[in-house]
Amino acid sequence: MDKNLNDRYSRQILIPEIGQQGQERLSEASVLIAGCGGLGTVLASSMVRTGVGHVRIIDRDSVELDNLPRQILFDEEDMRKKSPKAAAAAHKLSIINSETKIEPVVAELNRDNIEEMMRGVDLVLDGTDNFETRFLINEACIKLGVPWVYGGVVSTYGMSYTIIPGKTPCFKCFIDKVPQPGTTPTNATAGVLGMAVNITASIEATEGLKVLIGDYNSLNNRLIYFDVWYGTWKLISITKSDKPCPVCDEQQFEFLSHKK
Ligand SMILES: [Zn+2]
Repeated sequence: MDKNLNDRYSRQILIPEIGQQGQERLSEASVLIAGCGGLGTVLASSMVRTGVGHVRIIDRDSVELDNLPRQILFDEEDMRKKSPKAAAAAHKLSIINSETKIEPVVAELNRDNIEEMMRGVDLVLDGTDNFETRFLINEACIKLGVPWVYGGVVSTYGMSYTIIPGKTPCFKCFIDKVPQPGTTPTNATAGVLGMAVNITASIEATEGLKVLIGDYNSLNNRLIYFDVWYGTWKLISITKSDKPCPVCDEQQFEFLSHKK
């Protein structure tokens, strides 16, 4: 690693869990950030600042006023110009770290493009806000053997879980169905606090770093749930049921193959 990079990442290289070798692995790694809202901006910032070599960011939306309290890469000018989030994030991040190849994609992540979006990717980080897309990501990751980190946040609480195909239970193993609309709280109905977003995304990003470095032994292996307002912190074991999982056991990919 050249001197510039050694200087830039010196405080990370000092962490024994990362070290010079881990930092070099990050520089060769490629990550897909699925969604660039509250979680996605923190995820993208974390990946680019820590020195991941290639970061692809997909989001279809443009910056709006009510994004600014928590979506850390955007400002009022982005909102006035109605900048696409993926492009605005890529622009900000490119002046933070010109060494990272940042690839913005202004599109919805869907069954038609997800496998292409995952081409060459070592990890997918969940910055989405809906169960349909998470089920789709889960199926694509199981099919292609790519690890992914789930993250969800509403109001003052959040959760995260890391899925390693072939090693851990998958998303479908613990969430059987997409909840009926209106049955679970969302950011639009229950609100969301930026600090809860930051913690959720930071847990996801740290899990992601462990995957990219190859430190699988240090993964949390449990669903982390916390409430930043009430100081609650729980680690919940996820176990597979006796019934085979349609996705990770039987390779039935309902969302990937679903016809509109
Ligand atoms: Zn499963």
